[in-house]
Amino acid sequence: MKLNLNIQPLSSWINLKSEPLIISGPCSAETEEQLLSTAHLLAATGKVSVLRAGIWKPRTRPGEFEGIGSIGLEWLKRAKAETGLPTAVEVATAKHVEEALAAGVDILWIGARSTANPFTVQEIADALKGVDIPVLVKNPVNPDISLWIGALERINNAGITKLGAIHRGFSSYEKSSFRNEPMWELAIQLKTHCPELPIINDPSHICGNRELIPYISQKALDMDMQGLMIESHIDPSVAWTDAKQQVTPAALEELVSRLSVREPES
Ligand code: PEP
Ligand code: MN
Repeated sequence: MKLNLNIQPLSSWINLKSEPLIISGPCSAETEEQLLSTAHLLAATGKVSVLRAGIWKPRTRPGEFEGIGSIGLEWLKRAKAETGLPTAVEVATAKHVEEALAAGVDILWIGARSTANPFTVQEIADALKGVDIPVLVKNPVNPDISLWIGALERINNAGITKLGAIHRGFSSYEKSSFRNEPMWELAIQLKTHCPELPIINDPSHICGNRELIPYISQKALDMDMQGLMIESHIDPSVAWTDAKQQVTPAALEELVSRLSVREPES
């Protein structure tokens, strides 16, 4: 399968603070204080290029925290104004896209559950027509590369050329030390189909725990992935979502400084 995606190189739409690209921030925006304090510490590391925060959260069961909603966009705006970090949020509906664009969010990402649903992806794509904004597409929850490719094509067909993929692992029945199986071969296949597509690794959702994140991060860089999205929280022990896998900004700084980055071939 040859993919004819029309893509601009990552370096033309993300201003790298340092190598490799690090996108970090809380799984969920919880309070203004939590988001701002996390953002300031992340910015101070000098290693983070983009601030992420979930505003609308796709929860498996009802009754759990489903995201702070639109007010969180105001907090992100303030975090960006105070730190200079561009911001990224997950969008799952046309309304999310409209609100995120109106609030000046810099990068949108499509979550794993949304990528698995072509109706949802098409709704997002339609809302993006005529808009120039970077979009990152996570792999679907299930190990189906066609769904991942199909989602990338739908977004690209809507005119989005600042496009990348996020590898966050796949659901599996197998007993595993990972929350989501990396199944690296699927990311490799995607790269083979479309070599110019930037692929960013999300070790947080692959691992599901802090301890394994350095190992998966290094492996992703060794496989020439173009960056990492790592969840961080001012106090992970009290995080409202994904507490076990978030790291403090200080731990993030240490983790990133221990990664070895391959020199580009000349
Ligand atoms: C997230 O990034 O917080 C998230 C919900 O991720 P995923 O869509 O990969 O489960
Ligand atoms: Mn999360």
